[in-house]
Amino acid sequence: MSTTPIRVIPLGGLGEIGMNLMVYEHGDHAVLVDCGMMFPDSATLGVDVIVPDMTYIFDNAQKFRAVFLTHGHEDHIGALPFLIERLPLPIYGMPLTLGFVKDKFEEFNLEGDLRPLQPRDVVEAGPFVVEALRVTHSIVDALGYAITTPLGTVIHTGDFKIDHTPVDAKPTDLQRFAHHGELGVLLLVSDSTNALVPGHGPSERVVGGGLDRIFSQAKGRILVTTFASHIHRVQQVIDVARKFRRKVLLVGRSLVDNIETAERLGYVRFPREVRAGSADLDPRELVIMTTGTQGEPSSALSRMAIGEHKQVQIEKGDVVVISARTIPGNERHVAHLIDNLYRRGADVVSHEQPDVHVSGHACEEELKLMLNVTKPKFFIPMHGTLRHLIHHARIAKGVGVRHGVVITNGQVATIDGDEIDVLEERVPNGKVFIDAEAEEVPEVVVRDRQHLAEDGFVIVVVAIDSTGAMVRDPELITRGLVHVDASQELLDDVRAQLVGMLTEMPREELRDLELVQERMRALLKRYFRKNMGRRPLILPVVWEM
Ligand SMILES: [Zn+2]
Ligand SMILES: [Zn+2]
Repeated sequence: MSTTPIRVIPLGGLGEIGMNLMVYEHGDHAVLVDCGMMFPDSATLGVDVIVPDMTYIFDNAQKFRAVFLTHGHEDHIGALPFLIERLPLPIYGMPLTLGFVKDKFEEFNLEGDLRPLQPRDVVEAGPFVVEALRVTHSIVDALGYAITTPLGTVIHTGDFKIDHTPVDAKPTDLQRFAHHGELGVLLLVSDSTNALVPGHGPSERVVGGGLDRIFSQAKGRILVTTFASHIHRVQQVIDVARKFRRKVLLVGRSLVDNIETAERLGYVRFPREVRAGSADLDPRELVIMTTGTQGEPSSALSRMAIGEHKQVQIEKGDVVVISARTIPGNERHVAHLIDNLYRRGADVVSHEQPDVHVSGHACEEELKLMLNVTKPKFFIPMHGTLRHLIHHARIAKGVGVRHGVVITNGQVATIDGDEIDVLEERVPNGKVFIDAEAEEVPEVVVRDRQHLAEDGFVIVVVAIDSTGAMVRDPELITRGLVHVDASQELLDDVRAQLVGMLTEMPREELRDLELVQERMRALLKRYFRKNMGRRPLILPVVWEM
């Protein structure tokens, strides 16, 4: 048996939600599982997507053999263009996942080496033998992987739940997970998203019942919003609409594109007689499906809610079903959206009703089931914040998996046959910000924008002659920080302190313009923080006269 250890290196998704990217390495060979992105929150201004720092991959490019994709969610495929444009690896995944990847690559003018897989297919990548294992999740065609290495088998669950009655009747392949458990699993790496939720999550089918109830009571139009990639949810809306003799109109680019891709690949049944050509129908005969579950201001639903959408306006009597959970951080946007909908006379049913949305991630009892059927020797929780990971590790301990380690992005877990260790040093990791032109935005620019938006800015100008003497008092210009008239006293005070500092500085130091800038910045920073609790962007300018 080989003595070279396996190295497990998360570059994203462990210690945070989003941008999942995992490296499995043995000697000179490595594979990647997923390559996702993260959407920015309102604090990262002017940034469109966030992708993981892939320095480690590019620095070790010759090791990498392939990318294996678990499913088509953006937090698992969104960063692929930024990987593939520099390192064109073969990409394995199920047809729908690859369909979404292909659409994405077309936007970037990229060709990818896309290799479709079916559940239980086995491929070789260097010394790794990788088997695809079907799982259920909030998107069709989701996979976990059994990666057999020279030291033993690693099971990477991907995002999963154990839905016994999924809409497509293709449940999580528990037999196959158990089969590997029987042969012996060295390491289980498992989804922690719902590690804090007790019990067993409800089946996706429950939502069909919820929609049925809403449709049977609605007197006017029904609008349903869900994630554009949630093919089964869209299918359930189409099916219920058909039952109640309503026609479905899809509104929103991403939804239309995704359903088109899914239909072409045979994942959606959307019969002609259920399609609406326009919103011009009797309200009792229409269902509008659209995007914007997170209250994103630019989404179709948000624009409808303020009367800014060309095709559809919200009207009195509309029922709006928000069939998704609110991602932490978006609560304010969603609350605002819901209020706007009520203002226009609509009624809103959201995920607080248990049968309007169900999660796609395994809850505590499902996680235990996964641990028990795979019976791993070692365990690493993934896909969650530190709190989720730690709870999941406790769950594992509770079912008798004693050797679990919690690692976060950039940490390296090493496994030889008998032991799991975590290296002291981290590999490069972090976030890379990308703007609308697909250009990288340096982190410092994002930080400056945050300061500007929250605390305004201060420009301070001093002029110093060649002997190092101050030519006149420093000038202060501020925007967004203080009301200039009301704060004259404060600004006078800052100016006096600056003069005090500059007159005390030795002449030769004053000739060092960078040093003067640094001192002024430090003084102003301290001053505004201490006296106002603010952190404005400070731009010191020194003129040499
Ligand atoms: Zn997912
Ligand atoms: Zn995910």
